[in-house]
Amino acid sequence: MAQIGWIGLGNMGGSMSGNLVKAGHEVRGFDLNPDAVAAAEALGVKRASSIADAVGGADVVFTMLPKGEHARAVYLGDDGVLAHADTSTLLVDSSTIDIESAGALHAAASEAGFRFVDAPVSGGMSGAKAATLTFMVGGEEGAVKDASAFIEPMAKNIIPTGGATTGQAAKICNNLMLFINLASTAEGAVLADRLGLDKQVFWDIASVSSGDSWALRTWYPVPGVVDTAASNNDFAPTFTTELANKDIGLAISAAKDTGTPLEIGEHVQQLFQRLVDSGQGGKDCSMIIKLVDGSLSN
Ligand code: NAD
Repeated sequence: MAQIGWIGLGNMGGSMSGNLVKAGHEVRGFDLNPDAVAAAEALGVKRASSIADAVGGADVVFTMLPKGEHARAVYLGDDGVLAHADTSTLLVDSSTIDIESAGALHAAASEAGFRFVDAPVSGGMSGAKAATLTFMVGGEEGAVKDASAFIEPMAKNIIPTGGATTGQAAKICNNLMLFINLASTAEGAVLADRLGLDKQVFWDIASVSSGDSWALRTWYPVPGVVDTAASNNDFAPTFTTELANKDIGLAISAAKDTGTPLEIGEHVQQLFQRLVDSGQGGKDCSMIIKLVDGSLSN
């Protein structure tokens, strides 16, 4: 049994840390949101009163935070992880963040004598619950190997990506493709409906045909077709529009740095921006369908 510190018990981190408890580890979790802490406690995570309390005596610390700014604050702040953890503690950031922030965390951790890996995930809230996430793990080879042993109870796939920040690079490119697929799925679903196709019949066809995608199988934006879809639940978030907008923005910014034209990605980012501007940033990103069916047209 290992002692694990966990910071960020939201939609993903709550279920992920619960799976570490299930595997027999002791997990001490911290989050600023009391509801998130209560939900994790119900899964057996022990409540920590601060970051220092979560990381004290831990073999490994995981962070699962919204954006680069949150990860920087949690690792680098006066009350943060680097200030309070023992340098023998392995540090694993599973948040999806910009490459510059990931690089800054690698550098600061290394300078302070820690081993750190960037280990973002793919698989959504359903994959977090079912312990079937894909982890993309970047960093020094020995640290990646040691982190993989702790990651195992949460994962179906653990893929070493190379040196520092390459996990984030893989994740950013993957999510660019995901959100383009989501937008295309929304367009196909609305058009199929208007052409008189039954929603289930069309999904049955597309899911075994060339229109298939993870977005179609997991986040189908029409209610009553796919169990894991937020559309069944009035778009209560499994992945917020704000986070989707952040992720596709990370790809666009990386594309600018590398002179890569992302014409479709930029267009999808504008769709998410419209949702955010109309006050839907906290809703699930599959709400993008409402810009296609006209029920949210601004
Ligand atoms: P979330 O907003 O549900 O959870 C993030 C949690 O971090 C919140 O509970 C928040 O209170 C907490 N937090 C923020 N700042 C903190 C601080 N300073 N100290 C302690 N806690 C703090 O987000 P999520 O959906 O769980 O996503 C987390 C990360 O995983 C994001 O980077 C996201 O892009 C990525 N991700 C999400 C999904 C998904 O389907 N939701 C899938 C893959 C990756």
